[in-house]
Amino acid sequence: MSSDLSSEPPRAQAAANEPETALETARRQLARAGSQLEITDDVLERLNHPAKVTEVTVPVERDDGSVDVFTGYRAQHDSVRGPYKGGLRFHPDVTRDECVGLSMWMTWKCAVMDLPFGGAKGGVVVDPKSLSEDERERLTRRFTQEIRDVIGPTRDIPAPDMGTDSQAMAWIMDAYSMQQGETIPGVVTGKPPAVGGSYGREEAPGRSVAIITRETCEYYDSPLEDTTVAVQGFGSVGANAARQLEEWGATVVAISDVNGAIYEPDGIDVASIPAHNEEPEAVTGNADDVMPNEELLELDVDVLVPAAVGNVITEANADDIQADLVVEGANGPTTFAADAILAERGIPVVPDILANAGGVTVSYFEWLQDINRRAWSPEEVNAELEAEMVTAWNAVRSEVESRDVSWRDGAYIVALSRISEAHEARGLWP
Ligand code: GLU
Repeated sequence: MSSDLSSEPPRAQAAANEPETALETARRQLARAGSQLEITDDVLERLNHPAKVTEVTVPVERDDGSVDVFTGYRAQHDSVRGPYKGGLRFHPDVTRDECVGLSMWMTWKCAVMDLPFGGAKGGVVVDPKSLSEDERERLTRRFTQEIRDVIGPTRDIPAPDMGTDSQAMAWIMDAYSMQQGETIPGVVTGKPPAVGGSYGREEAPGRSVAIITRETCEYYDSPLEDTTVAVQGFGSVGANAARQLEEWGATVVAISDVNGAIYEPDGIDVASIPAHNEEPEAVTGNADDVMPNEELLELDVDVLVPAAVGNVITEANADDIQADLVVEGANGPTTFAADAILAERGIPVVPDILANAGGVTVSYFEWLQDINRRAWSPEEVNAELEAEMVTAWNAVRSEVESRDVSWRDGAYIVALSRISEAHEARGLWP
């Protein structure tokens, strides 16, 4: 293993490997982090592969009586620290490899936060906009039935992700519970509070992005009151991050939805704009002047928060990013190649596995509430989330400072040290 802790990936080598899939990015990040740590090759090789990937066929009756057949996956990466945990997405671009890459990120995310979970991710290859509400319900229930053997409150606990919401989680909880013959709220998180969901879960990923942005801005002597922010995406992550940052004094100058971005150098009244789940595409819906989404990424702002989809900062535009700091709201918005370019240009990137980890952290709180059959107040949830995020940020900062590494490397070092210690303690059986 190399002991050169401060080396960055060479630009030429990273560039030659474009284009990247989520799995490729995840594997390259793992190899890089592994080279900076005392972690055995055996453990590293185990972590390079998912423990299990389940592929299922999901037949769904359409409203007109015809039947369409969809493909679904559940990738379970590593469970050395606890049950598998991670979201389920409904999206046309879902692939087996994407689920595996995303499941690896969930393993690191849970470990950075020191949650007693491993990593998983699943999805169905479908455009949810093409489904009626009844079709979406039938798809969700049938998919639950198909993966029923591999999920459960002590086995693997799904949650919302792109294209799924609290209603879908309620259907999963119901379908699973009906089959098991008892009500089991802890099989899934991100449910509505009426069936064991946690207050604050919906806002949590955006809230954690805001907390981590606040801490990092303070670290770089740039308090939020003096900070301009551009947020790509106005779904659950982007909208809640933008609203919280505005509330804490930052000036949010640009936001976007799938159709484009709006930019107001003096600041946008973000609280007045509905998030995607409140009114789809409302950012551009009422705007006169819309700029392309790619241009938002290249604005001269203090902080850029990509909070829409993965792979938006790539080798093609990394040289044009003008922000002083990037805080990742989406999962995997920066490719490995782009990361190298930003590092070379001295632009810090605070990684997804720390910044948006508030989602899975409040999922953990929800799981605890379900097991204990006792709900926490919104104030309790937010106070605990604040404490957990600041603790994790401090653990990462300490690695960044002591080893002179990037924020992503610092987060990987925190996560991999915990995971590797658990693997060494448990050993390999048989
Ligand atoms: N899908 C979310 C994520 O990517 C949350 C996962 C969870 O709560 O289990 O972090």
